[in-house]
Amino acid sequence: MKINDKSQYKTYLANENRYNNMLYNRSGDSGVLLPSISLGLWHNFGKYDLQANSEEILRTAFDHGITHFDLANNYGPPYGSAEVNFGVLYEQNFKSYRDELFIATKAGYDMWQGPYGNYGSRKHLIASIDQSLKRMNLEYVDVFYHHRPDVGTPLEETAVALSDIVRQGKALYIGVSNYESDQITEITKLFKELKVPFIIDQARYSMLDRKIEKEILPCLLENKLGCIAFSPLAQGMLTDKYIDGIPENSRAAKNKTYLESETVEEKLPIIKKLNNLAKERGQKLHQMAISWLLQQKGITSVLIGASSADQLIDNLKAIENNNFSEIELHQIDSLTKQFL
Ligand code: NDP
Repeated sequence: MKINDKSQYKTYLANENRYNNMLYNRSGDSGVLLPSISLGLWHNFGKYDLQANSEEILRTAFDHGITHFDLANNYGPPYGSAEVNFGVLYEQNFKSYRDELFIATKAGYDMWQGPYGNYGSRKHLIASIDQSLKRMNLEYVDVFYHHRPDVGTPLEETAVALSDIVRQGKALYIGVSNYESDQITEITKLFKELKVPFIIDQARYSMLDRKIEKEILPCLLENKLGCIAFSPLAQGMLTDKYIDGIPENSRAAKNKTYLESETVEEKLPIIKKLNNLAKERGQKLHQMAISWLLQQKGITSVLIGASSADQLIDNLKAIENNNFSEIELHQIDSLTKQFL
């Protein structure tokens, strides 16, 4: 755009066909339907990211039926800035669509200084939801997560604080994240007693990290809870982008991320084999990685990240091919069961 460009900033009008192709799955036995693919704002929405790009990703997502946006108090960097940016973009684009959106935030990881800026105390959770709502310009979130378990706080204190947040109208539903199966079972009991609408667990799950298949997925099915799988592309490793080296601007090449180039190099032999399997199925590796998760029993939604609208559009094609032959599943198993 030139400095003398006379075209107006276009007011966003959502695509009227946005609900035509997305599939929606029920979260456990709750009333909530979530899109098969949801969008996370952990990366690419912080203070140092290009806001025009963040806006294009969000608009593209909603235009394709992605109704669920996932945030946390400390997404950025710096902490809080993804919520601030989301709040600005929400005001400019999505305010009139509020009732079509399902917005999540979380508290429980490191956020502010001192003894109350972290973990699972009533003090931390209630202060954090209030901060998040202000940053995002929202009256309520659709789901509020306890981001990680906290062995230092009695689970009952955490559960009652979350219950009160619902009663105060600050969140409609509650979720937990990174909990072990025994912790999920225990907090489910507490939430039942407190009549809290606890609907979902957010857990790391991809072909390169299958640990939740052992105990967590069976526990969620038994307790009739949904599961939303985060980092489904193993932060971008389950794409073809790293096959010929680490590209500039990729997550592994950047500072301030949790993806180390050594991890990419270590996983490369398996990534290459999975990439060949995807080609045989007529998919790209990132599409196969998402399709494979979508056909796993108990998965409500796959929570992707994207650094561009084009990536997002390409990932959405995964919904078109979720059928795997026994042979294909066996081949994927033989390459990835080491990550169980
Ligand atoms: P993914 O595994 O989907 O990784 C996303 C990254 O992969 C993108 O940012 C991009 O990185 C790359 N990528 C995506 N699509 C493509 C494509 N088509 N082609 C090439 N590269 C692609 O998910 P995230 O790790 O980002 O996690 C997703 C969400 O899960 C987060 O935003 C957050 O909401 C949630 N989360 C929750 C956690 C929790 O503790 N509860 C922890 C972590 C995440 P690049 O920059 O290289 O282009």
